Amino acid sequence: MKTRVVILGAGFGGLELSTMLSEAFGDAIDVTLIDKGDSFVFGFSKLDVMFGRKLPDAVRNRYSDFVKPGVRFLRTTVRSIDPVNRRAVTDDGTFEGDVLVVALGADYDVAATLGLAEGGNEFYSVPGAFALRDILPRFERGPAIIGVCGKSFKCPPAPSETAFLLHDYLTARGRREATEISVVMPFGVPIPPSPEASQAILGAFADRGIRFVKDQLVASLDPARKVAILTDGTEMPYELFLGIPVHRVPQVVVESGLSADPYNWVPVNKQTLETNFPGVYAVGDVNGVGTPKAGVFAESSARVVAKAIIAKIRGEEGPAPFRALGSCYLEFGGGQVARVDVEFLAGPKPTGSFLGASEAFIAEKSVFGSSRLQRWFGYPPPQ
Ligand SMILES: Cc1cc2nc3c(=O)[nH]c(=O)nc-3n(C[C@H](O)[C@H](O)[C@H](O)COP(=O)(O)OP(=O)(O)OC[C@H]3O[C@@H](n4cnc5c(N)ncnc54)[C@H](O)[C@@H]3O)c2cc1C
Repeated sequence: MKTRVVILGAGFGGLELSTMLSEAFGDAIDVTLIDKGDSFVFGFSKLDVMFGRKLPDAVRNRYSDFVKPGVRFLRTTVRSIDPVNRRAVTDDGTFEGDVLVVALGADYDVAATLGLAEGGNEFYSVPGAFALRDILPRFERGPAIIGVCGKSFKCPPAPSETAFLLHDYLTARGRREATEISVVMPFGVPIPPSPEASQAILGAFADRGIRFVKDQLVASLDPARKVAILTDGTEMPYELFLGIPVHRVPQVVVESGLSADPYNWVPVNKQTLETNFPGVYAVGDVNGVGTPKAGVFAESSARVVAKAIIAKIRGEEGPAPFRALGSCYLEFGGGQVARVDVEFLAGPKPTGSFLGASEAFIAEKSVFGSSRLQRWFGYPPPQ
């Protein structure tokens, strides 16, 4: 009898997990990978499209190209999850596994920030980022705010990267002197686990005249007056508002009982990623393991779960505990990329080391993307 693994969500976590299981067992395993979308888009590709560096079609990686022995991809929406019986109900039937993996990521709650939908632009979703491609060319003058609206958000370096890329974009259009850029963040420094990276970012902000507003969230927008209202009541005028919306646990996950409420990420065993329900795992952004919400951690958590499933089927010893070790690339603009290596669960405090901005990391970042596309979708490496 083949082991049945049902994986909900084909993002960073789901793609890596199904790839590893296919590599280990080929047709001797029965994996069902479910996603409501038709394609996978890297988070950083959203910025590429938004700033006109790439076309939308160039960054969509179609699930029809995800063809692996032992894995069936199904495009459908998950409507309910029964963790006791490791079962998911979708628009196209019910799927039950010996193992159930929830990899549904984080959802956005745009409505939680009053005025954001009417008076601002969120750039974290694919439609939001792609729409900005046509909105940014109309921004001519005045203040731009890159504002974080909730404490827990994907890819903590992304707001700073967006500020650097906006600076370059406006400079190239000859509009930088007529505009101001501010970044509002809920931390004291841009990347708390890495003081060196934070210093480098703050230095680069100062060089470019970008204002860093620390320890604040954007609580609401008043579109009529074009002001953003921060958590301490400060009002900041804006002409362009680029928002990082409040993140929440997908409703279907909350309703399953896997998480207590929309703002409590799924509790898991930090070493194994298993939830409170035996045989049910939560990988990536949806879990509450305590790492930043980033593809690298979604991928490395998926690897630990894949190794555990492989070991169990083979009757071998389970894998080493999840260490939450990962590298993030950070765009400084001007053709410079830096790398931050962080480790979250090994010691009492997260640690991070910073490898300064240089042109060399541009190639490394590009390989980070292309190697995944090759592994997951079978795309040839770029020439
Ligand atoms: C602007 C930006 C830049 C980023 N840059 C980086 C970066 O440089 N490096 C990095 O490591 N990370 C980066 N990230 C973060 C990264 O994209 C996420 O952390 C990562 O995708 C999380 O992986 P995941 O598998 O947990 O979830 P996701 O990749 O979000 O996948 C979840 C999947 O579940 C599907 N789904 C959700 N609900 C349902 C449902 N009910 N039914 C069926 N399917 C459903 C979704 O369609 C989605 O495909 C960035 C994010 C953003 C927004």
